[in-house]
Amino acid sequence: MRVLLTGGAGFLGSHLCDAILADGHLVVCADNLLTGRSENLVHLSHEPRFEFLQQDVCHTFDPGKIDYVFHFASPASPVDYHEHGIETLQVGSTGTINCLELAKKCNAKFLLASTSECYGDPLEHPQKESYWGHVNPIGPRSVYDEAKRFAEAATMAYRRYHHVDTRIVRIFNTYGPRLQINDGRVISNFMKQALLGEPLTVYGDGLQTRSFCFVSDEIEGILALSRATEHLPVNIGNPHEFTILECARLVLQSTGSRSTVRFEPLPQDDPRQRRPDITKARALLGWEPKIDLLTGLQLSLEYFRAAVQSRDIEAQT
Ligand code: NAD
Ligand code: UDP
Repeated sequence: MRVLLTGGAGFLGSHLCDAILADGHLVVCADNLLTGRSENLVHLSHEPRFEFLQQDVCHTFDPGKIDYVFHFASPASPVDYHEHGIETLQVGSTGTINCLELAKKCNAKFLLASTSECYGDPLEHPQKESYWGHVNPIGPRSVYDEAKRFAEAATMAYRRYHHVDTRIVRIFNTYGPRLQINDGRVISNFMKQALLGEPLTVYGDGLQTRSFCFVSDEIEGILALSRATEHLPVNIGNPHEFTILECARLVLQSTGSRSTVRFEPLPQDDPRQRRPDITKARALLGWEPKIDLLTGLQLSLEYFRAAVQSRDIEAQT
């Protein structure tokens, strides 16, 4: 297959490039480098089955004949989508429609990277795919949440009206090597702070929860869904739930750091709890995550050490 992957220079996209190439396919990566980095793809610069297009997917473009579209382009961390609010709305709406049009034109399959943020600050716990969510449509997170909810609606509409063969993955918090060091997400912040010996910034009382999935597990789940025929959303994430304070403790354990914790204000509309119900993914795809949080942090340590060092070198020059 010739696969179009949007957002391929980002954290998840670059791992997906590697996995799709390893499966024997060709990859055309379209990315405008808004939050991604060409360094994530540098190891593919001599790969003849890989092509990079520096392209904003909000503008129409012609990647040639394609068999599958994986639409991953979008700022993803709260810091990034607050900084690029309008761009986030645009890539979720116009960008998604453009990618669906390409899939329609090429008779290609289509997979949308959606998110647990579609559930907002959930009143149902854990979150099943059947839950419609509890989203503030005008709050600071709405640029991301509503863009992704629109993207899901557009994907379902192209299936209903144009018979595009679609899939929707609802991704829960994922971490691992290539997570951008300055994207403000909790794992990147804590790892950076722990390695620099700075206090770990816990927002609010730290009793809010998240469930963290290691990137190799996440990519396996996404690929399993891409091969299946299910068109309704499927949660892919790790169902083991941690408070943010527990997460801080594990980061200190994995790094051997003696950093302290500093409490800071909780951002507006920060979801109080989040945990995927993955019954559907287990039954449908025979998938489940294998790597626990402490192991995943240890597997990420070398990457974060190098990222912190190169950030320091950049700051000095
Ligand atoms: P990331 O910021 O590392 O990657 C996103 C990529 O999209 C970047 O390379 C960026 O340059 C690119 N991009 C943004 N706007 C674009 C545009 N208009 N045209 C072309 N490229 C554009 O983020 P990530 O964590 O790798 O997330 C990838 C996808 O997965 C996103 O759609 C995100 O919403 C979804 N997701 C991620 C997580 C997670 O925990 N990492 C959780 C839920 C959903
Ligand atoms: N968080 C924190 N300290 C940080 C960064 C994040 O306490 O330095 C909290 C944040 O308030 C949220 C959780 O960690 O409750 C996860 O935040 P992240 O930005 O990683 O992703 P989210 O799941 O909110 O999209």
